[in-house]
Amino acid sequence: MRLKFVPISSEKVRDLQNGGLDFYGNLPIKLISDGGGIPCRHCLEDIAEGDGYLALAFGPFADQHAYAEVGPIFVHSKKCHAYSGKVIPTSFLTREHYIMRAYSKRTKAIIYGSGKRVGSDKITVEAHKLFEKMDTDFIHLRSASYTCFACRVERDEE
Ligand SMILES: [Zn+2]
Repeated sequence: MRLKFVPISSEKVRDLQNGGLDFYGNLPIKLISDGGGIPCRHCLEDIAEGDGYLALAFGPFADQHAYAEVGPIFVHSKKCHAYSGKVIPTSFLTREHYIMRAYSKRTKAIIYGSGKRVGSDKITVEAHKLFEKMDTDFIHLRSASYTCFACRVERDEE
């Protein structure tokens, strides 16, 4: 099985970059990166020192339900390209740990027993285990330090 690492949608990011509102209806906060490891959740790269970025509330689910968490994320304030790689983004490997959770195809809920804190070098191995052993539709990766949404992991059916 191959995996794909899916960032937040380009449509959503373009809207935010063009003055759109965040999950709570607020304008994103405009900031300038100090180069201190500020991750863009669209291109899945760190935002370079001096480059502008937006801080905003984001919900990574299309529907609102009990498991649909909302939290802070960052994206570049100017156009960047959506990550489309089939391997873990290299910027993820500069962090030690991530939180990983699988969500059920049937219920859309978190699959209990799937949640774990994993070393960034173990994400691919652990993702394969979750897809092989459970009723996993998709996986969310989150920052282990701040719990911000990082990206979604899916089976690559192409
Ligand atoms: Zn970006």
